[in-house]
Formats: sequence, structure tokens, C-alpha cells
Amino acid sequence: MERYDVVIVGTGPAGLGAAFELLARKPGMRLLILDKNEYSSGGLRNDCKMNFSWPIGFPEYCWEESEAAAYLARVEAFLNPSILEKRNLERYSRRAEKIGVKLLAIRQSHLGTDGGLELIKRLVAELKDRGAEVSLGEKALSLDAERRVLMTSKREAAYGNLVVAPGRGGFAYLQDLMHGAGVDYTDNVVDVGIRIETREEHYPIVRDYYDPKFIFPKKTRTFCTNSRAAHVVQEKYETEDGGVWYSVNGHAWSSSRPSNGLVNFAMLKTVTLTEPLASGQAYARMLGIQASLLGGGGPIMQRIGDFRLGKRSFRASFSGDLYDFEPTLPSATPGDIGLSAPAKVMRALWNAMKLLDTIVPGLLHPSTIMYYPEIKLYANRPVFLDRHFRAKPGLYLIGDGAGTSRGITAAWASGLRAADGILAAQ
Ligand SMILES: Cc1cc2nc3c(=O)[nH]c(=O)nc-3n(C[C@H](O)[C@H](O)[C@H](O)COP(=O)(O)OP(=O)(O)OC[C@H]3O[C@@H](n4cnc5c(N)ncnc54)[C@H](O)[C@@H]3O)c2cc1C
Repeated sequence: MERYDVVIVGTGPAGLGAAFELLARKPGMRLLILDKNEYSSGGLRNDCKMNFSWPIGFPEYCWEESEAAAYLARVEAFLNPSILEKRNLERYSRRAEKIGVKLLAIRQSHLGTDGGLELIKRLVAELKDRGAEVSLGEKALSLDAERRVLMTSKREAAYGNLVVAPGRGGFAYLQDLMHGAGVDYTDNVVDVGIRIETREEHYPIVRDYYDPKFIFPKKTRTFCTNSRAAHVVQEKYETEDGGVWYSVNGHAWSSSRPSNGLVNFAMLKTVTLTEPLASGQAYARMLGIQASLLGGGGPIMQRIGDFRLGKRSFRASFSGDLYDFEPTLPSATPGDIGLSAPAKVMRALWNAMKLLDTIVPGLLHPSTIMYYPEIKLYANRPVFLDRHFRAKPGLYLIGDGAGTSRGITAAWASGLRAADGILAAQ
């Protein structure tokens, strides 16, 4: 059996952050990084907007501002992003403050999905140059945490330290792993919401600020804005009993591609369940399945004009007349979101949209489309033994899957934090 100083599961930003840091500070280390996909994947492939300001992407239960700032500085020094210019912020902020809304001024860069692919290619080549063994198409299956042996789809590998960074998509894998390795965990929050798609002229703030972060009452916020060459996409989720549901999401190409004149962004509400506690993940799955049932197997879309009149949208009525742009996710089913989204969630989202339309007038144009559901699932929160996301001796759980981040830069930072822990223990 081959033996490694460190094995890393996942080539997303969390896994890459850990790998680069370990090899930079201990160049001779035997390091294996694997990914179940045939290509290095992870979230750098999607749009690749990077946020370099607290608290974007940092769950506050496991990060403090000063700590996150120090790690962000290290992430920025490594990735060397071009920070986008922002304009007219005071104007929007003043309007927002008057109605109890906060606009966060975030330092951002944007590579686009095509730019992200170039970045990944470069990073993987660099990792190999630095001596890492990069194994693609190799899936981590199970773990003997006592013997420190990882079973994969290709082999058994012995490790000194294991860093597990399977992302949000690896939620079920991580759950099984925690169960098998005896890692205690608590339930986590769930973000439930919609994705809004409209013409750029109805949300012109994006010309001044690429991904504006508004915080509304009732734990509601804007998230992941895409524009210029922007599309809504759907992600497939499968349940243990064979059920399938979709969450919508968004991405954009880099500014070198021709613009389609559309903008999309999520409006999310954070839901934290209390006594009697149902699992947040199980709740989110039920919402997803219900949306899929009403959407005939896909997500639901509805024009604002129909929503306001309390009518469902129909395929035949969806385009033409006022409804003057085609949806970029045509596989979504025109329907009635109000029949599927919980009332409390829908009220918070609609209230936030009215507030946003006051700050950036135009958003509630009848042609604007709402897609439902956009659900952000996080694994249950592992109980960590230290500040370095160590869950068992020699076992570190990081990135979005473990709930230690919610974005590219914070995921990378969580990898640095785990690497610091591994190096400090040697
Ligand atoms: C459509 C979309 C757009 C997004 N846009 C942005 C954005 O613009 N800006 C931003 O900051 N964030 C964005 N995000 C979120 C961002 O992608 C994540 O926050 C980030 O990628 C999390 O990093 P991670 O390393 O934890 O996980 P991931 O990036 O998801 O990487 C996990 C990796 O682990 C692999 N893996 C999983 N299970 C196994 C296994 N059992 N064995 C081997 N490998 C496994 C996966 O194949 C994957 O490559 C977006 C997400 C999506 C889905």
C-alpha cells in the first residue's frame, strides 16, 4: 500500500488552498490530491467571482473577522486577482439605509467561467510541478480513521493526515464519512430562495458594482450576481431513495464574450430550524422534491407580472408582449412559485424584492423572471477539535461541504487554515 504524508480529497479551492500551502512550506512532502471527476473541477469552474472582504463566504460560527482578514490577505497574495472598480456606491447606500437595508462594499474580482477554466488548468499544472500527485477520476469511498487508510475507487492509500474537501455536492459522502469515523456533528442552516433574471437596464447597478451584496431584514440577502454574458443553470440533486430535484444557480462568461443584456442573481433567506429539530438538509430536500413535483420534474419559473396578479405563468403566455426576453433556463417550467415556496420564505423574499426595487428602480418590471428553488445545502457542522478544522487525529474537514466556507476565497482560506494545523503539529 502506498503511503502519503497528506492525502487531499477534492480539487476545489479548499483542497487546492491546502495543497499549495503544504507544498510551499514543506516542498519534499508526499502529497496526493484526488478528485472523482476526470477533470479538476470544483467551484472555480463556475463564473469565478472572488470576494475579498469579510464576511462574504465566511460562516461566522467558525471564523472571526480579524482571523478571516489575515487569511484573505494570504489568499489574495497567492491568487493575485484584478479587483473590480465600483462606482456611485454612496448613492445606492444612502437609499438603502433610508429603508433599513445594508449595502456591503466588497472587493471583488471576476474571471468568468472561461477565465476560471484557464486558472484551474494553470493551478493543476503548477501543483504537479511542485511535486504533488494529482489523480483525477479517483473517488474517495470510505475511511479507516484508526489505521489512517483511505479506500478509493482505485486503491487503498495510507496517510499521515487526510484533508477532506468534497464541496457541497459531496454532502452525502461527507455525512457518511463523519458517521463512519465517529465525528460528532450538529445540524446546520439552509438557504432557501429564488433566482431573479431580468434585463440589465432593469438592474443597472451591475454597471457600477458587479455583484452587489444587499442585506435585508429577516435574514434575506442578494447572492451571486451575474451579468453581461449571464445564464441561469440547474444543478441536479439525488436523494437516497432515488428521488431527483434541481436547484437553480447562475453563471457568466468573462467580459470578453458578447453580452446578452441579462442579469441574474439569487435572493436567499437563511432558515435555521429549532425545536423540535428536523434536519435542515431533510427539510431542504423536501422543498426541492416538492418544487420538482409541481415543476413536472424541473425547477419552476414565473414572470413577476403573473406573480403580482396571483396567476401562474404558462408556456404559451410566457413570451411576447411585455414579456420581452427569453429565459436562459428554458428547461424550467412556467408555473406558480407561490404553490411551492413556504409562505414565510416567500413573504421575506417578496418584501426584499420590493425594497430592492426602491433602491434600484426597475427590478419589478413584469418581464422579470423568478426561478425556484435556489437552495444552498451545507453538511451538518462537524464538531472540531481545534481552530484548524481537525475533526479527529489526522483528519481535517474543510470547504463548503463541511460548512466552513460559502465561496471560493473562504474555501481557499479554510484550506490554508487546515494546512497551518498540519504543519504546526509536525
Ligand atoms: C453554479 C455555481 C456558481 C458559483 N459561483 C461562485 C462565484 O462566482 N463565486 C464564489 O465565491 N463562489 C461561487 N460558487 C460557490 C463556490 O463554487 C464554492 O463556494 C466553492 O467552490 C467551494 O469550494 P470547495 O473546495 O469546498 O468545494 P468544490 O469547489 O465543490 O470542490 C469539491 C471537489 O471535490 C470533489 N469530490 C467530491 N466528492 C468526492 C469524492 N468522494 N472523492 C473525490 N472527489 C470528490 C468534487 O468533484 C469537486 O471537484 C458557485 C457555485 C456554483 C454551483
